Amino acid sequence: MSPLKKTNATKKIALIAHDSMKPLICEWARDHLEELKKHALFATGTTGALLEKELPLKITKFKSGPLGGDLQIGAKIVDGDIDLVIFFWDPLSPHPHDVDVKALLRATVVYDVPIACSKSSADWLLHSLSHQ
Ligand code: PGA
Repeated sequence: MSPLKKTNATKKIALIAHDSMKPLICEWARDHLEELKKHALFATGTTGALLEKELPLKITKFKSGPLGGDLQIGAKIVDGDIDLVIFFWDPLSPHPHDVDVKALLRATVVYDVPIACSKSSADWLLHSLSHQ
């Protein structure tokens, strides 16, 4: 069963954005602030630090993505410790840690963890969370 379908309880949400997408994740998180406050939030280092600076959110931060943060979130997915992933990756730029990104995306499919990689899909996921 998908983690989203289990209960109405607090979810563990991972937030990640590549550099060019960081303004977007800040805007998106601001739009969904009240809902996000109800959940346990995790993020790669720079994304998490930026969101905490911009918004009244408490976030458990991992290493920066290029230094292994995506892999750390992937490992939490493997352990069943992440319920939902918002990952605004940049489709227009190459990244040195592309293989880590691919590993994280693969883990979400292997473990059937819902993931949104664009604003509209993230809106839908969070909307469905708030209407469970
Ligand atoms: P960052 O990592 O939040 O540390 O920038 C994101 C990524 O590049 O995957």
